[in-house]
Amino acid sequence: MEIIIARESGFCYGVKRALRLARETRQQEKSTVYTWGELIHNPAVIQELAKEGIIPTEEIDQIKGSTVVIRSHGVSPEILQSLSRTARKVIDATCPIVKKIQQLTARLARQKLEIIIVGNPNHPEIKALWGTSGGRAIIVEKVDQALTLPPARRRVVLAQSTQDQELFAQVVAVLVSKSQELRVYNTICRSTQIRQQSTSELASKVDALFIIGGTSSSNTNKLYEISKRIQPRTYFIEKADQIRPEMLFGAEKIGISGGASTPPKAIQEAVIKIKVFFQKSGQEELAIRCPR
Ligand code: SF4
Repeated sequence: MEIIIARESGFCYGVKRALRLARETRQQEKSTVYTWGELIHNPAVIQELAKEGIIPTEEIDQIKGSTVVIRSHGVSPEILQSLSRTARKVIDATCPIVKKIQQLTARLARQKLEIIIVGNPNHPEIKALWGTSGGRAIIVEKVDQALTLPPARRRVVLAQSTQDQELFAQVVAVLVSKSQELRVYNTICRSTQIRQQSTSELASKVDALFIIGGTSSSNTNKLYEISKRIQPRTYFIEKADQIRPEMLFGAEKIGISGGASTPPKAIQEAVIKIKVFFQKSGQEELAIRCPR
């Protein structure tokens, strides 16, 4: 039997950076450090951070006189203003790639263009982008919503940094037929693109695939949807102890992929759990590899 780990599984650059900044800030401060909302979408990591004195909040009164860290998803200009007025210090851990998407959105809004953003309206990155557009952007989550948009002379379309590439392409195809002039900015980040591509390649090679990550993580949910389209035996789990023997039954090649907020430890624990299962069932041959 074989366990194959997808390329780019686990923490992305923006998440690693946000975690490093939050921890460095906590070391420098003598008291609790707050993050504006959960720093990343992973309950185990949030619990670890809380033990270290890094606490998520969205109560503005709680940060009075304290240091607050903005998570990798960023915040709207209004929230940034209110944090700067209230907190003693604001550390901006917005991913630089997300920051660039915010700057692009602000520029397009100043040009008074119709802006379509393909993303989840409840996700913090999209809430922040909507705010950056001054409330001008139209958020489209599904192709059906794009179909209901009226024809337009000029419009632009961009995506949440962790958007499913296929969905983005489908929405763009709909908008092409409804716009005289359509400018497309593919703002899906490189790490997301590689992660999605390697997960979909892996899904067609293995007998079962585990997607590991927080259930509220948008990019992990996307990985699950992508894999499930190809591999019916795709399982979305948060922790290794959710792996049950029937999920592995009859499978010889097992794939593992993790979202941008999935800690390496969660992936290692899943590998150990699968390994133990196969050793118990008498299969000695074991190879673990990460494809290049
Ligand atoms: S997924 Fe990409 S854009 Fe989002 S935080 Fe990670 S590196 Fe930044």
